Amino acid sequence: MKMRIGGEEIAGADERWIPVVNPATGEEIDRVPEGTLYEVDDAVKAAEAAFPSWAKRSARERGILLFRGAALVRERHEDLARLLTMEQGKPLKEAVDEVRGFANVLEYYAAISGSLTGKYVPLGKSGDAVVAAEPLGVCGAIAPWNMPALLMSWKLAPALVAGNTMVFKPATQTPLTSLHLAHILEEAGLPPGVLNVVTGKGEVVGEALVRHPGIEKISFTGDAETGLRVRELASASLKQVTLELGGSDPMIVWKDADIGKAVAGAVRGRFYNAGQTCTAVKRLFVHQAICDEFVRRLVARVEALKVGNGLSPGIEMGPLGGALQRDRIHAMVETMRNRGQGVILTGGMPLKGPLYDAGYFYAPTIVTGVHPESSLLSREVFGPVLPVMCVPDVETAIRNANNTRFGLGASVWTNDLSVAREVFSRVRAGMVWVNYHLSLPPEIPFGGVKASGIGRENGTQALASYTRTRTLFIGG
Ligand code: NAD
Repeated sequence: MKMRIGGEEIAGADERWIPVVNPATGEEIDRVPEGTLYEVDDAVKAAEAAFPSWAKRSARERGILLFRGAALVRERHEDLARLLTMEQGKPLKEAVDEVRGFANVLEYYAAISGSLTGKYVPLGKSGDAVVAAEPLGVCGAIAPWNMPALLMSWKLAPALVAGNTMVFKPATQTPLTSLHLAHILEEAGLPPGVLNVVTGKGEVVGEALVRHPGIEKISFTGDAETGLRVRELASASLKQVTLELGGSDPMIVWKDADIGKAVAGAVRGRFYNAGQTCTAVKRLFVHQAICDEFVRRLVARVEALKVGNGLSPGIEMGPLGGALQRDRIHAMVETMRNRGQGVILTGGMPLKGPLYDAGYFYAPTIVTGVHPESSLLSREVFGPVLPVMCVPDVETAIRNANNTRFGLGASVWTNDLSVAREVFSRVRAGMVWVNYHLSLPPEIPFGGVKASGIGRENGTQALASYTRTRTLFIGG
């Protein structure tokens, strides 16, 4: 069977199912339909039908529905977090944080819904103008598997509050929490068609969404290469795009830093979510005056991390997202070792033993003396491997920090304001933290420079990005 989307004829697939696998155990926990172009088209039609009456409601009315949805999510956060851990692998505590983060984002946009107003401009003798911020229409959103719930909220909350309807595509591996969250929002009173979820593969469902002529804007979070493809497809029909792509965040630890705090920051920054976070600490530069002590304490702390099934008590790090992610990380480490491009201080292999054999676990790994051409420095490392480099001065630290195609986040650990300012002004990153790494509050714009993306999520900027300015002139 064939259908036409965006001017091109594409073959549709027969109905099939995609298994959802627990990465800690390798067991199938559920299955979801493998969506085709037909489901995408149906979802866009449902969103188009729901749009006029949704857009006509006041922003405050839409916000109240999100408040109700957030309250239900909070009530059920324990069940949702268990589901998230089972499909994604992260420790239960991190899953609870993420589900609560989903509710926080809905509440933030619900609270600022009343700020969506237009402007009246008197133009003297020629009359007046009214400048309105209108919703765009049907928006498409595509999310990755590392933070399925939080990233869903970053997209749907500003879009819906601004009066748009949405078709959402969760990652192929992690659709379950998103489906449950969408049902909860429906239960909270979201009218049918306002939020639609289509499960399936990126190259089928994702591409069909990006090509679909009924979609006004695409918000995409994922890998940099996929982002380029999405941008290319979206530009054919002049769709607006927000692209949140990869990162290779540097963390610079200065000689006056509180070593204990910086070690804890590096461990959390790198090994949270098993290192699978876009703004994870991916390269660590430490002033040579404290480097030996820092590295000794870092390795000791990393060796003490409790790795296992995220549902077990006290676990600090879960498995990687799947066999593909684990094998990709191990291949990068092996290549570094085989080419003599660095030294492994701890870890450097998949974990073995009864607790680990059925899942996709990798040992938390610290490497040092890494050659700049090693893929551990030149590419995004989406897993629990941290390269540490000792640096003699700010100049070297900044030059190395900027030696990447990415520019998402960066942090500097110091009490010296001049060092902090220097790093902020010269390290090319969308977000720079001082004595902290990895905070993502909903009121602060989030996004990168260079190959890390285009546009911002969160804050009032994201709300504005889901509106179109239109002007009414009234003659005098
Ligand atoms: P991915 O690009 O493989 O997949 C992301 C989503 O895109 C999935 O839903 C996938 O099914 C879909 N997709 C795949 N091919 C597609 C195509 N041709 N057209 C349309 N959609 C397609 O990324 P991933 O492996 O799921 O996620 C990891 C990446 O996401 C990392 O690079 C990470 O840094 C990045 N990320 C960025 C942010 C951010 O906000 N900057 C946040 C989280 C993750």
